[in-house]
This record gives sequence, structure tokens and C-alpha cells, in this order.
Amino acid sequence: MVCKRITHPDGSVAILCTRGAGGRRQRCGRCGDPADYLCDAEVVKPGGTQGTCDAPLCRAHAYPAGPDQHRCWLHEREYQQAAQGGG
Ligand SMILES: [Zn+2]
Ligand SMILES: [Zn+2]
Repeated sequence: MVCKRITHPDGSVAILCTRGAGGRRQRCGRCGDPADYLCDAEVVKPGGTQGTCDAPLCRAHAYPAGPDQHRCWLHEREYQQAAQGGG
């Protein structure tokens, strides 16, 4: 997710966030190709709110995580390690 700080002429400030389609195309965090997907892994954001990782991912680096769901390489690795047990 890309967030932009907008200051209105009257001095009030708004934070504008874009996700997925619309706005500028994001780039894959791994290789820099145009990102078609965002990581859907659930994470706890700073401040304790629940959200999704939202790492931009190209076709090659979006690991399938279910119907219309994808994972970044970091969360894929976490998932693989968890799936192997090890604890
Ligand atoms: Zn990529
Ligand atoms: Zn992720």
C-alpha cells in the first residue's frame, strides 16, 4: 500500500492510500517488474491494527496462497517453515 500525505489549502492534512488497481502501478519488491499482486498475508501493523502485508509482487514472485490470494517470498518462506513443523 502506498500512502501519500496531502495538505489542503485550509491547513488540514489527509492521508491518501491506494491499494491495487487505480493510481500508479507498483513495482515488485523482489525484481522491480510491474506488480500485478499484493501480499495478502495477515500482519499486525505498527500501532497494533490488523492488516495485510501488501508487498507489491509481480507474477513470478506472487506465491499462490488460496483463491485470489498471494504471498510475498518472505511470507511464503514463513509459511513453508511453519508447514514443515519444526516446533
Ligand atoms: Zn518479481
Ligand atoms: Zn508478505
